[in-house]
Amino acid sequence: MNPSSFPAADRYAVIGHPVAHSKSPDIHAAFARQTGQILTYEKLLAPLDDFAGSVRALIAAGGRGANVTVPFKLDAFALATTLSDRARAAGAVNTLRFDAAGVFGDNTDGAGLVTDIVVNAGVALRGSRILLLGAGGAARGVILPLLSGQPAQLVIANRSSDKAIALAAQFAPHGAIVAQDFAALDGQFDIVINATAASLADALPPIAGSLFGAHTLAYDMMYGAQPTIFLRFAVQHGARVRDGLGMLVEQAAESFLLWRGVRPETAAVLAGLRAALAS
Ligand code: NDP
Repeated sequence: MNPSSFPAADRYAVIGHPVAHSKSPDIHAAFARQTGQILTYEKLLAPLDDFAGSVRALIAAGGRGANVTVPFKLDAFALATTLSDRARAAGAVNTLRFDAAGVFGDNTDGAGLVTDIVVNAGVALRGSRILLLGAGGAARGVILPLLSGQPAQLVIANRSSDKAIALAAQFAPHGAIVAQDFAALDGQFDIVINATAASLADALPPIAGSLFGAHTLAYDMMYGAQPTIFLRFAVQHGARVRDGLGMLVEQAAESFLLWRGVRPETAAVLAGLRAALAS
């Protein structure tokens, strides 16, 4: 067979700064093997002042799409020529698809979190009482998907309380969301999600242990080889715990679906990443 008759692999990348730590190439390579899709997926370190130039270069080189990570999710939002509803609500884009129509921007972080909680952890959102800690990009991106699950109440609390109040006001038309100061939080929650960056600094948001109970799922968006300080605190107060590795894999699966039209199985990929983290 003439090598030129082999189909050229479609090209994808994760764009960030830094990006060396990204697990996305491993995840998408596993998805491609599993689904028989022919593609390449690489890491692209974009200059802090020229995200758009990196995207243009990827498109010129035959790129079909990209994931976008810190600190470019707002740049990707600005660059997209068309946005999904969930990207518009999040005000940030983590997935780009390039085609003849232009640059489509989506945000799969929230769907990834919800799938990890509902499908992988088996915890229902409908009728639940949820506490969301943090009001940065990650928190904002998950509010609409969480409210779509029809919880009884979504409480948002943040160190800078004005940001939590603004988010609650913005999303109030979509469901039962209220902002509260950390000190005013009371009663137990069914789900407590840590979307602050506190765990990165081994710090704990100022919350009481009494917010957790035996029926509580405590979820930290951060992940690592060891449980975060937030997850250790939640365990001490009787909660079930889960870190953000599943969210990472599920948001990737949602991006893969957008690009390739096929949803990969995630359980084995998540188990492989977990084993690699532990080794
Ligand atoms: P941002 O910088 O946009 O927001 C940071 C948030 O954390 C703000 O609400 C900030 O409060 C709060 N915060 C920071 N330090 C502390 C502290 N010491 N105590 C209390 N609150 C604090 O970050 P992102 O929203 O992008 O990311 C947040 C976390 O989510 C990170 O750990 C990130 O790794 C993780 N993440 C995981 C993903 C996954 O797939 N698993 C996907 C995306 C994010 P204030 O407003 O007062 O500054």
